[in-house]
Amino acid sequence: MSDASPIRRHFASDNYSGICPEAWVAMVEANADHEVGYGNDTWTQRASDLLREIFEKDCEVFFVFNGTAANSLSLSSLCQSYHSILCHEIAHVETSECGAPEFFANGSKILLLRGENGKIDPKDIDRAVNKRKDIHYPKPRALSITQATEVGTVYSLDELRTLTAEARRCGLRVHMDGSRFANAVASLNVSPAEATWKSGVDVLCFGGTKNGIAIGEAVVFFDRELAKEFDYRCKQGGQLASKMRFLSAPWTGMLKDGAWLKHARHANAMAQRLDIGLRALPQINVAYSVDSNSVFAKIPDPLVKAMHARGWRFYTHVGGWQEARLMCSWDTTENDVDNFLTDLKRFAAV
Ligand SMILES: *Cc1c(COP(=O)(O)O)cnc(C)c1O
Repeated sequence: MSDASPIRRHFASDNYSGICPEAWVAMVEANADHEVGYGNDTWTQRASDLLREIFEKDCEVFFVFNGTAANSLSLSSLCQSYHSILCHEIAHVETSECGAPEFFANGSKILLLRGENGKIDPKDIDRAVNKRKDIHYPKPRALSITQATEVGTVYSLDELRTLTAEARRCGLRVHMDGSRFANAVASLNVSPAEATWKSGVDVLCFGGTKNGIAIGEAVVFFDRELAKEFDYRCKQGGQLASKMRFLSAPWTGMLKDGAWLKHARHANAMAQRLDIGLRALPQINVAYSVDSNSVFAKIPDPLVKAMHARGWRFYTHVGGWQEARLMCSWDTTENDVDNFLTDLKRFAAV
């Protein structure tokens, strides 16, 4: 932070945080010598093998620069231009990717689903799919599920399986926006396999950035058939890193000893601490169940202003919602949370 505020860690976003030690060390190791470019290197091989290990599946893996690319390219590999993609109305692919999924899928239309707490109502899938059956309507082809959701809730395995079963019944393939997949797995305390392909997910965009990697997400195809020619899509989409090892090596550091889950558990625990503290303040309403690393809370405007003036950074209108969004990261400390709550209590009392 370049301002004079003594506050060093904020709750604005999990991408405000830096690179975690495990990812950093792996990058330093990858920097020791020359290596083959464009992903034909030992780091990329190792990272892909580690992903196959933790998912207990011979999946196909690609590393890309960000979540928008991961989502758009993987969705476009599921769809023809005349198809449609179903997702929750507040899904990142709809609200925050500047039309990239439609662009990369050459015009596939996004159809919006409703549901409480950021979660898709399974009944709404049938409504969207069977609303029209004629040739004038874009043919539904993919369901995109965000796990953890945009409001920090997490689908239980039962909820997930209900959605994917409904998708299958309607002839849809299942995409998971797992920008905060690590937080979801930590929250559910299930195996990564159960959280994905064993529960009907075809392709996962596994977020690294928000969990402590510098740059990059992994696209994991559990159905290898869907990954056909995905390498060309990545290259054409500007996502084939020439020094790929610096995208992939951090994953080896995150995956080999479970750092990815350790950091996610920690971020979730900090959100829990924040949640408990906020609930003790009568002026503040926590809006959703805190299942992962974010807390959405209705905080009165004067209080928001006072906190901002004090130097705390957090957003109040991300993605169109009214609540303040407080995100915890792998490096958020108990002290950070307590200091934030202390300031909030102090301003709430005046
Ligand atoms: C952050 C985020 C992404 C990825 O965004 P990029 O800025 O493109 O990396 C995708 N989905 C969700 C739900 C996110 O919060």
